[in-house]
Amino acid sequence: MSLPDMHSAESIPEAARFEIDRLLNSGDLFRYTAPSDAPVSLLENEFAELMGSKFALAVSSCSAALFLSLKALDLPRDARVLIPGFTFAAVPSAVLHAECLPVLCEVAENYRIDMADFAAKLPSVRAVIVSHMRGHTSDMNAIMELCDAAGIPVIEDAAHSLGTTWNGRKIGTIGKIGCFSFQSYKMINAGEGGI
Ligand SMILES: *Cc1c(COP(=O)(O)O)cnc(C)c1O
Repeated sequence: MSLPDMHSAESIPEAARFEIDRLLNSGDLFRYTAPSDAPVSLLENEFAELMGSKFALAVSSCSAALFLSLKALDLPRDARVLIPGFTFAAVPSAVLHAECLPVLCEVAENYRIDMADFAAKLPSVRAVIVSHMRGHTSDMNAIMELCDAAGIPVIEDAAHSLGTTWNGRKIGTIGKIGCFSFQSYKMINAGEGGI
């Protein structure tokens, strides 16, 4: 089997370039000036509908989405947040940025969260971030069961996982909040961006 060339980007489709040009001409790039149907509002509505979620909020990056998720949970300063040992640097950075403390959970050789270590560390934390790395989805049944029983909120870092499912449920909609990236290497390339 030959792998796709992962070192060159796909070009932006013509229809998207046309839309970008139309937006640049209007000068109306975000949500503030359009009386309704601002481009970013249309994206949020379409994304929420696609995911079957009540709300979607577009932001500058998945890092910003993770940071805002922690703030939205109203965690006290220095709250401990459980994150997988195999993740992206933005995850512990977002935790520190939100004035919380990252606590590392072991992952197995298959890149999935080690549930024994997860269960052992859960009582010491106030929130959990699960990173679904490169399509290797952790056991969301086991994670949600433990977290629901303990009343601990789960944030899904779905930066790599737009469009993937766990037992028929969309990744990013299983926890309390799901965070997605539109950075160039992720499923949808907006240069930078998140939701
Ligand atoms: C890329 C990435 C992020 C951060 O996304 P940005 O949009 O670049 O801030 C978070 N988590 C994982 C697993 C990532 O790969």
